[in-house]
Amino acid sequence: MQQTNIIGIGRDDLNGLFKEAGIPAFRAKQIWHWLYFQGVRSFDQMANVPKDLRARLSEMFFIHRPTLSQAQVSTDGTQKWLLKFYDGQEVECVHIPEVDRGTICISSQVGCTLTCKFCHTGTQKLVRNLTSGEIVGQMMVARDVFNEWPTPFSHRHVSNIVMMGMGEPLYNYENVANALKIIMDPEGISLSKRKITLSTSGVVPMMQQCGEELGVNLAVSLHAVRDELRNILVPLNKKYPIKELLEACRNYPGANNANRITFEYVMLKGVNDTPADARELVRLLKHIPSKINLIPFNPWPGSSFECSSPKAIAEFSEIVFKAGYSAPVRTPRGRDILAACGQLKSESERKSKSKLQNIHSEDLNSGQGIG
Ligand code: SAH
Ligand code: SF4
Repeated sequence: MQQTNIIGIGRDDLNGLFKEAGIPAFRAKQIWHWLYFQGVRSFDQMANVPKDLRARLSEMFFIHRPTLSQAQVSTDGTQKWLLKFYDGQEVECVHIPEVDRGTICISSQVGCTLTCKFCHTGTQKLVRNLTSGEIVGQMMVARDVFNEWPTPFSHRHVSNIVMMGMGEPLYNYENVANALKIIMDPEGISLSKRKITLSTSGVVPMMQQCGEELGVNLAVSLHAVRDELRNILVPLNKKYPIKELLEACRNYPGANNANRITFEYVMLKGVNDTPADARELVRLLKHIPSKINLIPFNPWPGSSFECSSPKAIAEFSEIVFKAGYSAPVRTPRGRDILAACGQLKSESERKSKSKLQNIHSEDLNSGQGIG
């Protein structure tokens, strides 16, 4: 029998597989608890599961997460992990500690089919979609690093997720949805939908379903207020122009003043950063429960853009703020380790691997994470 990774199989599917195999339904619930609440790595650790069933499960499944091959810690506490999948493909995952929370930035694809001009991932071809197990796996590795099993009820090091790593999550919707449902399951990892933000470059036809089915916070990579410019910066705009995108935002299920949509706006010198752009942004977002996230452009070798000056960013932010929007400028975190969301992995590939601190999985197994 072909073994499958049990991590990433949704609850209903797991119930179905157990039923097919003649295993009582309550066992599926027990095993779910071991996997996602206790975070165990082998069937043998499942103390209340009979030995013969454990043996049977080990024939049907294996329990696998991505391998944490390297880790770097920034002077500001941000950590960047290089995670390797079964086929050797890698993504990076970043953990950003803050006073009252810890956020991980996770990926949905290796590479991206879209070609946003300022994004380094956009210069790479899509290698493949990540499976739901690989997406959940990023969260589980983060929990391993902080030795955060069983699922703590409060004071978590990994309390929030942003899907702002590599790839366009709404172009790998099924796997992303399966993964997030596992992550949100209250009997497992138990992260609330309010603590999860999915960032899209504007895949309009998938937005409604995402809101209805998952109810997670939405972030939209807007970056320009006119179609002519957005067509260049975010070429997907030619398919789904600003008007349609904003209409989909207006209709996003669950968006209200308490749960606003975040509009990401990367500050590009002389391209999209004038006071007129700021005023137009405010006009466009009228009647949409929104907040605006101004992101200083993070340059990469060969990019044809520069980051706006601090003065231009301050002026822009002021206009948006005066119009009643919260407009924080996203402070760059972990710059010394090139940990900016949206341009993960590609930079580190350049770096000699010896510069990275090697973390052995044994350290993690013995609970001595890098946290
Ligand atoms: N594909 C999704 C999510 C990944 S990108 C999306 O585009 O929304 C996450 C965020 O990082 C996006 O807002 C993206 O536009 C931004 N980003 C990409 N490259 C960047 C760079 N070099 N500097 C600053 N932000 C960048
Ligand atoms: Fe893909 Fe997002 Fe980068 Fe655009 S910004 S190329 S959608 S990862």
